[in-house]
Amino acid sequence: MNFDRRPSRPLIEAPLQFRTSSGGERAKHNALITCPKCDAPCFIRRSVRVTETVKHIDAHCTNTGCGHTFGLEMVFRHSYNPGLIDRPDLHLPICPRELVPHVLPPSRDGPEDPDQLTMFNGG
Ligand SMILES: [Zn+2]
Repeated sequence: MNFDRRPSRPLIEAPLQFRTSSGGERAKHNALITCPKCDAPCFIRRSVRVTETVKHIDAHCTNTGCGHTFGLEMVFRHSYNPGLIDRPDLHLPICPRELVPHVLPPSRDGPEDPDQLTMFNGG
């Protein structure tokens, strides 16, 4: 009798990706924050919401030869679609229609778009 019930194929196919690997072109391009001194991707250590439209972020560089730690500010720029909640008190500007980006999920077969956001492919 065969008690080995393991499936012949893995249940989930999820290729391991090291997007923040030191010196990797892709990591540099896809990292949310890059070091202003050496362009390496950075870890976010802490973030504090200052107002509805401003967040302060403490980050540190992943390049051990750099080690830069710094603070930065993330600021609301404009809405692409104003959504369903009315908040006239925030005075949020709306992006001109011709400048609204079209962000699509990645194609399984097609070539990878280097400008694609990483949130869709687990990077
Ligand atoms: Zn650095």
